[in-house]
Amino acid sequence: MPLTRSQCEQYDSNDPLAPLRGEFVLPEDVIYLDGNSLGALPRGAYTRVVDMVETEWGQGLIRSWNDAGWFDKPRTLGDRIAPLIGADPGEVVVCDSTSINLFKVFAAALAMRPDRKTVVSEAASFPTDLYMMEGATGLLDGYQRRLLYDSGPGLEDILDQDVAVVVLSHVDYRTGRLHDMAAVTELAHRHGALVVWDLCHSAGALPIHLNADRADFAVGCTYKYLNGGPGSPAFVYAATRHQDTAHQPLSGWHGHADPFAFTTDYRPADGIDRFRCSTPHLLSYAPLEASLDTWERVDLDLLRAKSQKMTDLFIDLVDQECAGFGLEVASPRDPGARGSQVALRHEHAYPVMQALIDRGVIGDFRAPDLMRFGFTPLYVRFVDVWDAVEVLRQVLSTDVWREDRYATRSQVT
Ligand SMILES: *Cc1c(COP(=O)(O)O)cnc(C)c1O
Repeated sequence: MPLTRSQCEQYDSNDPLAPLRGEFVLPEDVIYLDGNSLGALPRGAYTRVVDMVETEWGQGLIRSWNDAGWFDKPRTLGDRIAPLIGADPGEVVVCDSTSINLFKVFAAALAMRPDRKTVVSEAASFPTDLYMMEGATGLLDGYQRRLLYDSGPGLEDILDQDVAVVVLSHVDYRTGRLHDMAAVTELAHRHGALVVWDLCHSAGALPIHLNADRADFAVGCTYKYLNGGPGSPAFVYAATRHQDTAHQPLSGWHGHADPFAFTTDYRPADGIDRFRCSTPHLLSYAPLEASLDTWERVDLDLLRAKSQKMTDLFIDLVDQECAGFGLEVASPRDPGARGSQVALRHEHAYPVMQALIDRGVIGDFRAPDLMRFGFTPLYVRFVDVWDAVEVLRQVLSTDVWREDRYATRSQVT
């Protein structure tokens, strides 16, 4: 029996998360399938931003560092993100960017395995992770990198007594492939290596169990599924058991044990605060605070169930409606093996995606040939999935994507 739009409407009326959509601003006539790149605007962000600007800054002035909790913001927001990633209070701070936080924990982890000189990551990692690793090992002597490729030896085969740190994306930014965090971490630990998890595409997309899975370190951004707004600060997690032995090299004053003693020598703070560096970008925290008000009411198991049902539906509809148009599903077909996004491969992925965006279906393109569609369970509906596939079918069946204007590459794809 082919799937129908009215079935999708039925799914929406039975969806326990459906009311949350009302908490976001979404333009009319847009089907937003790019919340994995930039989350939608939470309605509560307006009042929170205005409050921070008018009251905390305008009236409170310098007093707000104490009175409005500005100084502790990285820590208080870290404690609010902790339950979303399976961490405890005191294990997460929100500050800086993902790239910078990766540098901190990667360098700290290297120093915890001083006799080992090999680092491991995946060739398909989000490039900034590889670049930051290069930058960190480039400051030291004698390190070599081993990369995992889609086809080729697996992690099991390349781990040995020389591997200090493994850096992996929990969910692959292109294909959505999901690693088994517990199994991979256990494997690395068995060989004496530490693991840094990049959670950019999994935080807010599915339940994460950092502590239960014995993770060492993790980083992630808040502007994707967590809806913190463009350029919102990232988070960094260090397991409690490592906090006193981990030393991150960006030893700025906010990570000092006593910042206002203004001493000449660095002494790291106890606990997670040592992963801070300097003055937080406070205005960027305000929308994230509003978003976390919504997240406090989200049941992550329901979130995962809806996400899997939506991505399954999308794949089934592409199979049903778009057969013969040269599309290939690049994401795992097993819903247990992927995050909350689906990638479709097409020879002309770029212009096809531009034609979709022109018709209000917003996804994105990742070189060389992938169209990426993110399904954010807080505000995407099942009918949106249906309608998006319908537009995709029209774009492909009419060849409208061949118009010249869709071939011009923008700076951000
Ligand atoms: C989005 C993303 C980043 C972004 O890093 P920034 O420092 O925020 O620019 C890093 N890693 C992964 C896997 C990402 O998806």
